[in-house]
Amino acid sequence: MTDTCRECGRKLTAARPDRVSKTGLCVDHANKVKWTPESRAKLAAAVRARHARERADPVKMAAKVASGQRLQRDHGSTPEMVAKQSAGRSRTFWCPEAYRGLNRELKRKQIGLAERKQMIATEMLRDAHRREMAALAAERARRNAMSPFERQEERLRNGASVVTKFTPRRADPSYTLGGVVGAIA
Ligand SMILES: [Zn+2]
Repeated sequence: MTDTCRECGRKLTAARPDRVSKTGLCVDHANKVKWTPESRAKLAAAVRARHARERADPVKMAAKVASGQRLQRDHGSTPEMVAKQSAGRSRTFWCPEAYRGLNRELKRKQIGLAERKQMIATEMLRDAHRREMAALAAERARRNAMSPFERQEERLRNGASVVTKFTPRRADPSYTLGGVVGAIA
């Protein structure tokens, strides 16, 4: 056997020096030869046939089930892990946590995704409005419970300045219409 690929002439470096390349091809070319659509189909058919044989064999099947259960027990996910994973992968990422229940309810009623999104968006707006109204009502109730003096005190605390009422001096002619007109003329 040659020590270069017969397709591309690349030097063949064996992982084990005591072995000689059987194909006389580098890995790339060996794979190219090995994996044709036909050889892939052949392998897939062989795997399917093996699985079918195993399924038909009760002893082999029982062994497979037992090994699966062992794997699940020793390396499988806990229900918490599964829940976390499915939450991360959830297709309901668009829906806020608080509305997931409503979404499920609507889904049970066979309402489509687009319509559910619309309905939940409306519900969210409604809830936001409700919260705002409740906050306003609470603020009104709080202020109503205050004495006028307390209310005034709070206004000052919040930065209102004491403004003296503006009272024009009647006697000043420049404040009267006649005075202004007279000044222009
Ligand atoms: Zn090659």
